[in-house]
Amino acid sequence: MSSKVPPIILNNGVEMPQLGFGVWQVPDDEAERAVATALQAGYRSVDTAAVYGNEEGTGRALASSGIARKDLFVTTKLWTSEQGYDATLRAFDASLERLGLEYVDLYLIHWPAPALAKAVDTYKAFEKIHADGRATSIGVSNFLPEHLEQLLDATSVIPAVNQIELHPRLQQRAAREFHAEQGIATEAWSPLGQGKGLLDVPAIVAIAQKHGRTPAQVVLRWHVQLGNVVIPKSVTPSRIVENIDVYDFELDTEDVAAIGALNEDRRLGPDPADFNVT
Ligand code: NAD
Repeated sequence: MSSKVPPIILNNGVEMPQLGFGVWQVPDDEAERAVATALQAGYRSVDTAAVYGNEEGTGRALASSGIARKDLFVTTKLWTSEQGYDATLRAFDASLERLGLEYVDLYLIHWPAPALAKAVDTYKAFEKIHADGRATSIGVSNFLPEHLEQLLDATSVIPAVNQIELHPRLQQRAAREFHAEQGIATEAWSPLGQGKGLLDVPAIVAIAQKHGRTPAQVVLRWHVQLGNVVIPKSVTPSRIVENIDVYDFELDTEDVAAIGALNEDRRLGPDPADFNVT
């Protein structure tokens, strides 16, 4: 996989670029432009989901990029309304069709939705999709350790990834430790805290000034040094370029400690323990 982003190695030996491009809240036609810009800037990993409504635009940008399929890493996610064994198989076919792909690199259960109690059956369908070679890796999103434990007890393929909300205000130390013990990669969603009120925090601005970088680059570099997979989103070309340009500087222990002190265990998104929206 040739990219300016070094890979991490998943628990099945597959390489995943550590930094990718997220497209939540980007309308389909705009997603095509944004993903094309990202691929030009050197991103090779794209994170979409059925519920984002932009798998088609994302797929068009991938197809017209001229980049070999083996050099791309495409993630999509199963929406909660489609949980259950048979519904999952059908939803996966529909996602592949919209993306215009023969396989995805990573397929994730979007939310555990514990009140539905369908995650195990859903994941068994994921195991079939994986065994059939149509999802190179499978995993989950927004699973708390207790939800992961249920899967680990009842299924055989250890999830490659758990994609969770993670940024300096919500550092998720316990989840990261649990994932590391189980060999599950931690992927950070809303890595920039959605840009809201995080990028102007004085401690982050000071670190940015010290390194001659932007606050967004400092936060993304912090994720990279923690070992997180990270998928910042932007539709602004200059920011798309800026957000991948984090591999030629390093935060020192003082910087890492200052960002560590910003944790408030504060979520921007729903709590997975009781988010069952279909
Ligand atoms: P993010 O933390 O990536 O923030 C994006 C926002 O930050 C942008 O809209 C913009 O306002 C601002 N921004 C981006 N780059 C900037 C820069 N260089 N300088 C200043 N401001 C900048 O938020 P996100 O989109 O919520 O998360 C990223 C991706 O994570 C999503 O696109 C999606 O792919 C994924 N995600 C997954 C889930 C899930 O449930 N699995 C939930 C939310 C997001």
